[in-house]
Amino acid sequence: MNWVVGIDLGGTKTAIGLINPQDQIVERVRLPTLAEEGPASIVARIGDVVDGFRTRLPAGEALTGLGICAPGPIDPINGIIVNPTNLPKFYNTPMSQLLGDRLGIAIRLEHDAKAAALGEMHFGAGRGVSSLVYIVIGTGVGAAIILDGQIIRGVRNFAGEIGHATLDPYNGERCACGSLGCVETYMSGPWLERRYHRLRPESSGVTGEQIAHLATEGDPAAAQVMNGAGEALGIAIATLAMVLDIELYIIGGSVVKAGDVLLNPARQAAPAHSFITVGPRIRIEPAALGDDGPILGGGWLARR
Ligand SMILES: [Zn+2]
Repeated sequence: MNWVVGIDLGGTKTAIGLINPQDQIVERVRLPTLAEEGPASIVARIGDVVDGFRTRLPAGEALTGLGICAPGPIDPINGIIVNPTNLPKFYNTPMSQLLGDRLGIAIRLEHDAKAAALGEMHFGAGRGVSSLVYIVIGTGVGAAIILDGQIIRGVRNFAGEIGHATLDPYNGERCACGSLGCVETYMSGPWLERRYHRLRPESSGVTGEQIAHLATEGDPAAAQVMNGAGEALGIAIATLAMVLDIELYIIGGSVVKAGDVLLNPARQAAPAHSFITVGPRIRIEPAALGDDGPILGGGWLARR
């Protein structure tokens, strides 16, 4: 049986997990990415961590692969990090080759949301299904679509940018992408803050996570903001369900810590905006694996 490593490379921190043959993370290491130092620095430090893992494996067992995920866009076929906005020094980095040369094992590179979706499908909230959409709500909003067991990529691996689907082209807010009324303008962390501040001008620096918490405590302004976010999420999911006929929607990212104050309005809105033959089958669930999702998804890929 094989041991593998799963890695979630982020803009500020990098989480590394050693995964045993039973698909359990048995050791975790967190490093600062130090993105400003470029890829050579993090590759060298990942190499040191993995060398350490190797010394602690049971006698006669070996590390056979590593799966790493990173913010998109990436090229999963050639293992290249293309041009992520929060990793500017990593443009066109051949990450699979750099790690493979350092470690001498097979490397798989995947987009972070897609790796988390694979993790949830095989080990988390999506166990037992072969089609799901994983929606991550944090600083931005993105999604990974798995249909009949296959990741949907599209022509340039861009499929899943549900955060920039238009919900209100007339009276919507101006999104960072230039369009009006994008899904993201209702629910990303920065937009929750902006919307709450408008209702409570005396408040400042209240984060999306805090607004979610305030909503559970009955703060009416926070409840209004989270309601709007949940309704927008439900409408976006209804659209996905009508197009894809997928039943399970797993919500991850920092904002989902809000729990039912976000998910219940989404569960109400989704059937109201889809066919009677589709709406009742839609299930909206929180991610089960949290920060381990992308690591386990990376490990799953490393075994393939
Ligand atoms: Zn947008």
